[in-house]
Amino acid sequence: MANEKNTFHSNLIRNVWAAGRNYADHAKEMKAEVPANPVIFLKSGTTVSSGSVIHLPAWSKEIHHELEIAFWLNENLEFSHFTLALDLTARDAQSDAKKNGLPWTLAKSFTDSCPLGPWLELNSVLNLESLQLELKINNETKQLGNASDMIFSPETLLKYVKTHFPVAPHDVLLTGTPSGVGQLKSGDKLEAILRDKTRSNNQPLLVCQWDVN
Ligand code: MG
Repeated sequence: MANEKNTFHSNLIRNVWAAGRNYADHAKEMKAEVPANPVIFLKSGTTVSSGSVIHLPAWSKEIHHELEIAFWLNENLEFSHFTLALDLTARDAQSDAKKNGLPWTLAKSFTDSCPLGPWLELNSVLNLESLQLELKINNETKQLGNASDMIFSPETLLKYVKTHFPVAPHDVLLTGTPSGVGQLKSGDKLEAILRDKTRSNNQPLLVCQWDVN
């Protein structure tokens, strides 16, 4: 029983519930309204990739990075682990979908569109609000955000998805991206860093690296 929480693997993930527009600065850069209720879309569980290489699909000219904090749900549908995720987005397909009132599935749920870092046990962080996420591309900071700036907290998002959707054990929740999203190019080197701002030694909780193929 003691190890039950750790008996998981990415191939158990059925659903990735993802929040859109959950940081006001990102909603603004997308010229979107700040939502009154959580905006949730679905990435298939099979979009998850734990490898270190990002493969850009040939059919899109504009794959964007969206760095996000991800939570893993245990058998009781509670957060048990967390990591960093890239909610890769085919922005050209999403713009077409928005313009034509069509679903976002092509834009958000294509093959390998959800690279995840290694999972950390949640009890290693005292306060979720103290988390800070940063994405560097080719050593230049592109996204820097604080969990305290989320419009809806991770707990509020979880309550919302459990109320409306058939959430299952081992599902993942993505909590939205801060501003600074942009296009990935072949050869880019990504470094994503998760910090706990209350830690005095400034050592990151997590560093993830991905190379764009
Ligand atoms: Mg996103």
